[in-house]
Amino acid sequence: STNRKETYSSTCCYCGTGCGILVSKDKKGVVSLEGDADHPVNKGMLCSKGMNLHHTANDTSDRLLYPQMRFNKNMPLQRVNWDTALERTAAVFKTFIDKYGPDSVAFYMSGQCLTEEYYVVNKLMKGFIGSNNIDTNSRLCMSSAVVGYKMALGEDSVPICYDDIELADCFMVTGANPAWCHPIIWRRVEAHKSANPNVKIIVIDPRKTDTCSIADLHLQLNPGTDITLNNAIGRILIEQGNIDYAFVAHHTEGYERYKQSVFERSVQEAAEICGVPAKDIELAAAYIAASKGFLTMWTMGLNQSAVGVNKNLSLINLNLITGHIGKPGSGPFSLTGQPNAMGGREVGGLSNLLPAHRVLNNPEHRAEVEKFWGGGSISAQPGLTATEMFEALESGKLKAIWIMCTNPLVSLPDVRKAEKALRKAKYVVVQDISNKPETLAYADVILPAATWLEKEGTMTNSERRISHLSKVIDAPGEALPDREIICRFAQKMGYQGFDYKDDQAVYKEHAALTAGTNIDVSGVDYEVLKTQKTVQWPYPKVAGSGETKRLFTDKQFYTPSSKAILHPVADQNTSEGTDDDFPFVLTTGRIRDQWHTMSKTGKVNKLNRHIPKAMLEIHPDDAFLLGIKEDDVVEVRSRRGDVRLKAKLSDGIKPGVVFLPMHWGKLLNNDLNRANNLTNSLLDPISKEPDFKYCAVSVQKF
Ligand code: SF4
Repeated sequence: STNRKETYSSTCCYCGTGCGILVSKDKKGVVSLEGDADHPVNKGMLCSKGMNLHHTANDTSDRLLYPQMRFNKNMPLQRVNWDTALERTAAVFKTFIDKYGPDSVAFYMSGQCLTEEYYVVNKLMKGFIGSNNIDTNSRLCMSSAVVGYKMALGEDSVPICYDDIELADCFMVTGANPAWCHPIIWRRVEAHKSANPNVKIIVIDPRKTDTCSIADLHLQLNPGTDITLNNAIGRILIEQGNIDYAFVAHHTEGYERYKQSVFERSVQEAAEICGVPAKDIELAAAYIAASKGFLTMWTMGLNQSAVGVNKNLSLINLNLITGHIGKPGSGPFSLTGQPNAMGGREVGGLSNLLPAHRVLNNPEHRAEVEKFWGGGSISAQPGLTATEMFEALESGKLKAIWIMCTNPLVSLPDVRKAEKALRKAKYVVVQDISNKPETLAYADVILPAATWLEKEGTMTNSERRISHLSKVIDAPGEALPDREIICRFAQKMGYQGFDYKDDQAVYKEHAALTAGTNIDVSGVDYEVLKTQKTVQWPYPKVAGSGETKRLFTDKQFYTPSSKAILHPVADQNTSEGTDDDFPFVLTTGRIRDQWHTMSKTGKVNKLNRHIPKAMLEIHPDDAFLLGIKEDDVVEVRSRRGDVRLKAKLSDGIKPGVVFLPMHWGKLLNNDLNRANNLTNSLLDPISKEPDFKYCAVSVQKF
């Protein structure tokens, strides 16, 4: 009949929750969608962003339709065919590589790329070009959590599964607003709490967010004092004997040093530093002590920090001393920001990683991968990380950058500096779906990419769950899937090993390379994913083994001693200090209905209605002292830049702290809504994640 629709299964391409979606296509190719009722993650539910995804697919008005390039910096961009764009880019890359070495070129990717896309770029760069200059915007997102897990548990691995939500009776949500940013995970927590009122929820945040609406306790701490708070909770648990002595003795290392470190400060001192009542810290410890299942949940408030790794460790320590890991309803649960940040790491898509979480500075690991790929030798030298790439463009060390599926001129810290850097770049490739990203103004080559529903591949969500995304519709114009663009380019470079039959062939190669590692997915292929819908890794190709719901149930960790490691962490915060000129702390974050730099969600009217414009959230007491009223235009300055936008008075924010949403970029050449004009590119020394959540600013009425 004319109404016949075809239905395909897919996964939402926004947050790391990984909700299952059923997509239907009518005869004209118009798509509609609904939550997949049989999907283990969302059981049919979708949040406002996921629910409106079909609008982004059906509206192709902003799409890039054909390759464009300019033959020198003074010429305008002109339409070219794919061969010309890729051949010329290959020639330019070869010239730079010959003249300045392989580290003169770089790829900057995204946690929104599919696993197969990540895999081929990583292989091209590390295995064939011979540089580790491939990094992704996951660096801005999860890298502190990655290092925290690795140091504490021996592996970058989220131990829990979402089904632990319904088994937990105490949640500590810190530096996260899942009610807005991971809504479906939070719907599950809400439903669990409403069915079991004894469940305790502790929220730790300088802002009273929507997540606080079901909290039993909101610790409204001063920004940057998370470690002090976590250590104080640790101290109380130890003092009151509320730790799991047997677990600590048999399955952890470093307890005495940890204990010593948390006893360096009294709870009263900690309370003053954090700006929360001591009795509330004690109450948090009491909730944890009474719990049978304790889940810690966190995201950017801990990760995006100059002491992000230490913040992560101080939190994971609480799961370890209480033995709340590797058992139902318990564990440290980092909420992944992006839909496939985890898949990207599985294939080694960061400048310091090799496939299957192998280690770059391990010669055996390098040799294994070199042999498998059959390209050249892999450099032992870690590549440039996200922000380092832009510094290297500025200094001239890096000549060419290939930006793929990300919009750094909105999302990088101290973004005006990044603009200057891009202006200095010798050669810029922008591979994107939309004609909106700010980077396009700097591009020497623009490559139109296919997007969600227009290509096939896989992603891994926050609970290690791999899902397959079907191709449903054709990309508009000449746009191509990212994987195909990269493979065509690799062939233009003259490299063997990129002539894949299809996406499944790429996946199989990746899966084979994981065999025998901690993240073994050698038993997974597209058929397995299609029949089982989704699976959680590890999933080795061993008869009788299947997916792994929960890690460390045998209390064997991936460290050399098989014990988890308690790291004592000092509670200093090295963020930029406030002073008389810049007396406020600025923190940035997401709003409910926008995703990242808005190239998709910004197209949907319904989503734009929730919060139509960027606004500065400020406490009424601070506003009063500055003579600022609701909707007044204010000027916010930091040592790096300024913004000018309306004020929104909110008693949900801590006095002395102001908040800006991260999503807005340049509009009609006006960049004064862009939060990252202000933020600081100070990095965590280990994870190299920037300090987005803390910089000193001034605020005045404009
Ligand atoms: Fe998509 Fe995340 Fe919303 Fe689920 S919770 S529908 S994955 S944005």
